[in-house]
Amino acid sequence: MILFALRCARGHEFEGWFRDGDGFEAQRKAGDIACPQCGETKVEKAVMAPRLGKPRGVGRLAVGLGVTDDPGGDA
Ligand SMILES: [Zn+2]
Repeated sequence: MILFALRCARGHEFEGWFRDGDGFEAQRKAGDIACPQCGETKVEKAVMAPRLGKPRGVGRLAVGLGVTDDPGGDA
């Protein structure tokens, strides 16, 4: 299992566990991943660790808009 930080098309960030990267893509394409805040199924992987991937708009995120880490805990 792998934990991905995700962001929906509306900018909400959340996390989801997936079997692997392919599992994520398959579920995303099938519309099986929905934002817990708005239900948007257009999601993408958010930048999770500074060491990974290429910076893409980092720093332009609206920090302090009330989008904070949710305690989560849903099954
Ligand atoms: Zn959302």
